[in-house]
Amino acid sequence: MGRRRRRGREPGYVWWIAFGALVVAAVLLGAWRLALIALLAWCLYEFSLIPTVCRVMTRQGFACHEHVRGRLYACSSTHQQVKNDALWRSAGLRNPFRRASAPDPNRDTGVVVYSPAVRARLAQSDRVIVTLAGAGSLVAIAGAILGLVRP
Ligand SMILES: [Zn+2]
Repeated sequence: MGRRRRRGREPGYVWWIAFGALVVAAVLLGAWRLALIALLAWCLYEFSLIPTVCRVMTRQGFACHEHVRGRLYACSSTHQQVKNDALWRSAGLRNPFRRASAPDPNRDTGVVVYSPAVRARLAQSDRVIVTLAGAGSLVAIAGAILGLVRP
């Protein structure tokens, strides 16, 4: 992190070594707070730091292969919008932040039909990990509150 090496990306295992070290330290020290920090760090990593690809599905069924950081993020604002919608939908909600000014994909203009080239679908692995990381964040927050209440 910090300075960017020419769109450089560290290999994924660097992160796992760091998480592994944190978990091992937590176990050795018997420090559940450290384990909590490791969990939270992993969630943040999956959400916003992991070197991955956009993977927004196009209507043709191809996955976008632009490089991005974080499973919550996409390569462009249009893909980001699709991804946001998909994330909300996988939580069983409609995206409350969807801009009303966005062109209606179903409008019938006859001439210039804005047809979204992309459909709001998340890759299965992304959905699973984002769900896990979301649950992990909740656990970490609950643990932190518990730790404050009962030191
Ligand atoms: Zn993309």
